[in-house]
Amino acid sequence: MDCIFCKIIAGDIPSYKVYEDKQVLAFFDILPISPGHTIIVPKKHLSDLEDLTNEEFSAIALATKKIGKAVLSGLDVKGYSIFLDNKSAANQHVPHIHFHLVPRKEGDGLERWPQSGYEQNEAEFFLKKIKAEL
Ligand SMILES: [Zn+2]
Repeated sequence: MDCIFCKIIAGDIPSYKVYEDKQVLAFFDILPISPGHTIIVPKKHLSDLEDLTNEEFSAIALATKKIGKAVLSGLDVKGYSIFLDNKSAANQHVPHIHFHLVPRKEGDGLERWPQSGYEQNEAEFFLKKIKAEL
């Protein structure tokens, strides 16, 4: 399989491993947004959030929480951002689901995404579409 994260998991590509358990591996992003930027993946090749079982998602969430705590106490930072680019339309470049944990500092210059607003009745329109699927 030509998946860079599976190669890292298999040890075929070296990485700076931050955390590992039975289901999860976390390692440094080689192009970090900030020092300590960590990628958290399931060891099983799963492409996106819809592929994860609740148990697999829980394992990743718990590992992410543990790493976040270590980042706060181990690095000189006051916070961190966690994000997932889920599917290619959301800029997912490696088709193996991966969460990012990015250590943050006050005034680090990382801005929020551009925001907009809703036209009249537009929020209700989108709300109805999503709630119908829940
Ligand atoms: Zn993979």
